[in-house]
Formats: sequence, structure tokens, C-alpha cells
Amino acid sequence: MEIAIIAHDGKKAEMVQFLLDHKSVLSTANLTSTGTTGLHAEKAGLKVNKLLSGPLGGDAQIAALTAEKKIDAVVFFRDPLDKHPHEPDVQMLLRICDVHDIPLATNPATARLILKALGSIK
Ligand code: PGA
Repeated sequence: MEIAIIAHDGKKAEMVQFLLDHKSVLSTANLTSTGTTGLHAEKAGLKVNKLLSGPLGGDAQIAALTAEKKIDAVVFFRDPLDKHPHEPDVQMLLRICDVHDIPLATNPATARLILKALGSIK
């Protein structure tokens, strides 16, 4: 199971809480992340393949992996109350998930449901 995790700065605390809450199931998956989100995940005790930071192309890298079917689910906690210089990359990743029918969670409630579903079909 390959799961991509990304959190905008205003959502990193929620991401860390989500990771801690689901550490046991996430430890059995391969995690890929944008750079800074990955550092937080490592501090939470998870092993993660860190790509570039989001504003430097990390979201675009995850989009490319998703288009190549190398990602099974994307957990992307976006901050809807802030502006992001890399908004085009963010939109591209969301679009690529829809193009390739890849589960995409943009908030913890949806992410919990996706993890639960992935766990039961594993
Ligand atoms: P970051 O990128 O994990 O490197 O902060 C996330 C983003 O802003 O897309």
C-alpha cells in the first residue's frame, strides 16, 4: 500500500495528530510525502519517503507518481483559509486523482474513512 501525505502549514498539527492516531496501520504502508510534511511524520515516528517541499514541486512530484499508478491513496490536508504560491500544483494533484480515480482525502474525517476501507480490503 502506497499512501501519499501532504499538509499545508496551517494543517500540519492536524496531520501529526492524524498520523499518531493511525500509526499502527500507517506503519504497514509505504508513505511518500512532501518535504516538510515528511519531517513532521518522521518526528511522529513514521518512516517516510520525503520528496521536495510542496512550494518547490513536491505536490507535482506526487501528482506524477499518482498518474503512474504508484500511489494508492492521497491524504492532503489543505488549508482552505490561506493562500498558496503553488496553488496550480495543488489543483493539478487534485485533478490527477480524479483522472485516475485515486482516493483523495482533504480532511481528517475523509482520511479516516479511506484508511478504514483500505485496511478492510487489504
Ligand atoms: P510541505 O508542502 O510538506 O513541504 O510543507 C506541503 C504543501 O504546501 O503542499
